[in-house]
Amino acid sequence: MSSRFQSFDSIAVSGVQGLSPYQPGKPESELKREFGLEKITKLASNENPLGNSAKVVQAVSQTLSRVTRYPDGAGFELKSSLAKRHGVDINTITLGSGSSEVIELVARVFVAPGDEVVFSQHAFAMYPIITQAVGGQAVEVPACEWGHDLKAISAAITEKTRIVFIANPNNPTGTWLGRDALQRFLAEVPEQVVVVIDEAYFEYAAEASTGADGYPDATQWLEAFPNLVVTRTFSKAFGLAGLRVGYSLSSPVIADLMNRIRPPFNVNTPAQVAALATLDDPDYLQQSLDINTAGMLQLTQGFKDLGLKYIPSITNFVSVEVGDNARVVYDALLRRGVIVRPVANYGMPRHLRVSIGTEQENRHFLTALTAVLSHLIESNR
Ligand SMILES: *Cc1c(COP(=O)(O)O)cnc(C)c1O
Repeated sequence: MSSRFQSFDSIAVSGVQGLSPYQPGKPESELKREFGLEKITKLASNENPLGNSAKVVQAVSQTLSRVTRYPDGAGFELKSSLAKRHGVDINTITLGSGSSEVIELVARVFVAPGDEVVFSQHAFAMYPIITQAVGGQAVEVPACEWGHDLKAISAAITEKTRIVFIANPNNPTGTWLGRDALQRFLAEVPEQVVVVIDEAYFEYAAEASTGADGYPDATQWLEAFPNLVVTRTFSKAFGLAGLRVGYSLSSPVIADLMNRIRPPFNVNTPAQVAALATLDDPDYLQQSLDINTAGMLQLTQGFKDLGLKYIPSITNFVSVEVGDNARVVYDALLRRGVIVRPVANYGMPRHLRVSIGTEQENRHFLTALTAVLSHLIESNR
């Protein structure tokens, strides 16, 4: 039988054919190789700059002599600790290899080819990627002053909508939604539409926000809205990005559906143990938040001194407008050993996203940025 087979690309499912992979921040090791640099400051992936606490290092070390065994597929101890922390039943929790896996599970449970998934312009890149991967139709709603426009998102919901993704706060803009607005929105969404509120930066946001209509903890609405899924992660304020662990809280029905397709050992033993240890280490969390508060002030003051506009953020990163030459600025910073994140792929070609580092890292970045910008001005003369 003669075959018309040409390439595997041509027989991949159509959503996957058109995808470009998620672009992570440039790894330090790559930059070292490329430019032969010694000192690198990586402010590109919103990681915790503090390093891990002795408690976590010790707990993880102790697991390394028993990795012949599969992890606990049910994640019982970690889920029990989380259940206590959130005051919820254990059967409302779904663990993931990072919260991005949880986001993927929700999409795979509810989105069939042709179904619609609604999210904002400039929203976290995993939403369009996973939507397309499962054959869903992405409905991107124009942002309002860089933030989510809840009225427009509401209006974009149709009979075909299965999921609405809300990042609160959003990455890479750092923008956020207040309690009243978000609650009103949830009340408007049809009951069969799943709303995922992605709270990857919850700890930072709760620390930074003030005012009457403050930053809300969406888990308070889980009982009122059975269509709500709230995701959290250990990758940011808890400092465990390298171990990959996150989770969602939802109604038990949705958790059960996700559990049916969850890879059975998706969260490995060191990750489970580290997550437990870091939950038990409030000093580390507070120190992380304090460093972040100081670093955000340092960076935003630096931007003001340079006359640069930035998008106010309550996270551990800030997007700064460097102008038409953002890509040139990014490349020039690399040559000075500083990795930040270009965000043109988020529809923000004039911005760079900078993660908050330690005082010293922030200084390295600001010094490099000052030098790069003054060179640019000179060469444009
Ligand atoms: C970082 C981030 C995540 C979480 O990533 P994981 O490491 O997979 O937990 C989720 N959502 C947003 C908006 C993020 O910025």
